[in-house]
Amino acid sequence: MSRVNPDAIHAHAGQRRKMVEEQLGDRGIRDLRLLEVMSRVPRHLFTLDSLQHRAYGDTPLPIGESQTISQPYIVAAMTEALGLKGNERVLEIGTGSGYQTAVVAELAAQVFTIERINALSRTAQKILEGLGYANIVFKMFDGTYGWPDQAPFDAIMVTASAKEIPEALINQLGEGGRLVAPAGDADKQKLIVLTKKDGRLNKKEIGDCKFVPLVGKYGWPEK
Ligand code: SAM
Repeated sequence: MSRVNPDAIHAHAGQRRKMVEEQLGDRGIRDLRLLEVMSRVPRHLFTLDSLQHRAYGDTPLPIGESQTISQPYIVAAMTEALGLKGNERVLEIGTGSGYQTAVVAELAAQVFTIERINALSRTAQKILEGLGYANIVFKMFDGTYGWPDQAPFDAIMVTASAKEIPEALINQLGEGGRLVAPAGDADKQKLIVLTKKDGRLNKKEIGDCKFVPLVGKYGWPEK
């Protein structure tokens, strides 16, 4: 595995700082560990080469295979909603570019990430390993099943949207755990946070969003 050149990692530092101040801090993201991590993780390395100059803009961007890297604010809002302290085992559905995976890997003990498109999973894996992350386990599969033999998880993040959050994922959330996922219609969803306490679920909506579809057995059918 080849390590990413340190100069490439440190590039765009000014734009990254501006992104954190203007898109995250000024919009109410308060988790200081998260803000520090997002001012350090080189988002430009997770975008297509031709779009690196737009990596710190306030938008999602295409990553190939008709998929996207999420808008920085959405990455931050979803991560903050998990309330990570550093010792958690986290399940992520939708590795995509691997950027969100890196942010979570910085803030938790271990990340189990599932992606259904092989090419995206392989590219993300290569970048994350090149950056030296050693606490991420990758799987190429339909993530609507979750990862039963590694459950329960302290936190679960779903970065593609279904009509309803798949039951299998809710069942794999441990006691005291939090799950964040978009749910709703194909063209507009709510970001939902579920907290499991004494075996019961508390549900909170934290905003509107628009994600690519969660495609699979317990999501949308493949087109
Ligand atoms: N968090 C990612 C990032 O920072 O790049 C963005 C992920 S993108 C919005 C959603 C990803 O979910 C896509 O890569 C898509 O292929 C993947 N996906 C959709 N349905 C899935 C499924 N059933 N299992 C695993 N991955 C799925």
